[in-house]
Amino acid sequence: MSKLESVVCNYCGNDNYRIVYIKEGFNIVKCNNCNLVYVNPRLKDEDISNLYDEDYFKGGGFDKNVEYVKEFVQKCDISDLSDWDISTLKEMAGCKEQGNILDIGSGMGLFLYKAKIKGLNTKGLEISPAAAKFSELQKLDVENNSIYGAKLSSAYFDIISMKEVIEHLPNPKEALSIIYKSLKPKGVLFITTGNYNCPERKIKGADWFYFMPKGHIYIFDPKTIKKYLIDAGFSKVVVTNQGDLLMNFLLKIGVIDTQRFIPKGIIKRSIFYLTRFINHFISSGMRIYAIK
Ligand SMILES: [Zn+2]
Repeated sequence: MSKLESVVCNYCGNDNYRIVYIKEGFNIVKCNNCNLVYVNPRLKDEDISNLYDEDYFKGGGFDKNVEYVKEFVQKCDISDLSDWDISTLKEMAGCKEQGNILDIGSGMGLFLYKAKIKGLNTKGLEISPAAAKFSELQKLDVENNSIYGAKLSSAYFDIISMKEVIEHLPNPKEALSIIYKSLKPKGVLFITTGNYNCPERKIKGADWFYFMPKGHIYIFDPKTIKKYLIDAGFSKVVVTNQGDLLMNFLLKIGVIDTQRFIPKGIIKRSIFYLTRFINHFISSGMRIYAIK
């Protein structure tokens, strides 16, 4: 690894920040102007790309929670939250049967695999050659490229997803501008990422599991991510605190219907909304929907 690189705030361009935590020798800082939380100084872009080698996808990299090969094998033939997410996105984007989806940072391709089963035309972008190759073997159209390097048609996609990806991107502002152009009018961008304002961060501080300063170089909260999306041009942004944990539980007990966003029936619907409310107090992640 070469030496670190200092960066200005990606949202507002200011270089005026305070250190909020120090972890693994990295400063996690907060912009005094716009409150964006980011790692500064951080690894250089090429060192960041090199983190996502074959080992990373097997849990051998900086994020030990990642076990995508295992996950792909376990989940490709059973219903999981991805099915619910895809139905939700189709509903929001108004795709009856057909529709084009782009998954940025598609990993092994599990989300695309599910989307394809649900009738969508799928495309993935993945910077790891090993992961892109794995997806290819599953007969998925995945380009080994970044959002910055790929040539995407304008106004082509109904849905663009970035699950646990935006916190890794060197330049979220540029990425969101590319995404906005590539979406059709009324198209929807789906983001999942950590929430800086979550209770776990407030309790555990620097020990919060989501602080992985080598790769998680931005930590958003509902306000900062919303400002980014509105600035990019999105007309409607819905930020929810729906992390995977409780949502998976709802799926297990049959409250979540993988075919629709909000479940049918008064009891299921009440449990769904109650869980969403509870999630505000316990979840460390956000599910964000932005409509062009
Ligand atoms: Zn700023």
